[in-house]
Amino acid sequence: MRATTRLGIMGGTFDPIHFGHLVTAEEALVQFNLDRVIVMPAGRPARKTDVEVTPAEHRYLMTVIATAANPDFEVSRMEIDRPGVTYTVDTLNALRDVHGPHAELFFITGADAVWEIVMWKDAERFRGLATFIAATRPGYDLEAAQQVHSEELSRIDIHFIEVPALAISSTDIRRRVAERRPIRYLMPEAVAAYIQKYGLYREARQS
Ligand code: ATP
Ligand code: MG
Repeated sequence: MRATTRLGIMGGTFDPIHFGHLVTAEEALVQFNLDRVIVMPAGRPARKTDVEVTPAEHRYLMTVIATAANPDFEVSRMEIDRPGVTYTVDTLNALRDVHGPHAELFFITGADAVWEIVMWKDAERFRGLATFIAATRPGYDLEAAQQVHSEELSRIDIHFIEVPALAISSTDIRRRVAERRPIRYLMPEAVAAYIQKYGLYREARQS
């Protein structure tokens, strides 16, 4: 047995979860030799306090459905059960408390989200807490972005991986449902069926 557990954490709104998230989690799992990936839907995402978000229970259940068949993925209720606005740093500290010093934490994120994280004024708080794995799309000019953000990037431990399904987004899926366009093949079929069953995303949103 290995002395440490390598835990991947993928935070997000998951409104809804899609193949972009799942492909990224799987790629991180394999490339970084993780023991498992915890998918962690946000309660009230700090970056989305001004926009409408689907009730947490729906978002949670969709992540459970999407990950059920994968023994290396699990879903945590930690953030949706914690009252108030969700902050990633609180989650990582809580995971550290739960899993103890023998767990190594890897926070998996899309490159779009990572730029926001490194710009936060307290980004140094992540140092020593978790390694970041940021997904970029093939053809993305990573070097240029790294140069622009070089100062901020030096404050955290971060690695980049290329993921082919990066063009999929929850925003596009919600818009498609509202416009009665297809969403099949962008996410697991059972998630699309869940959306249909509960009539989610039928009304167009402001965001
Ligand atoms: P929205 O369009 O509502 O912002 P989203 O598709 O970006 O939704 P989030 O729940 O905001 O999904 O994202 C959760 C995490 O997954 C973030 O770190 C985000 O950067 C990342 N992510 C989102 N879409 C993809 C994708 N297609 N490939 C890889 N990572 C993604
Ligand atoms: Mg997003």
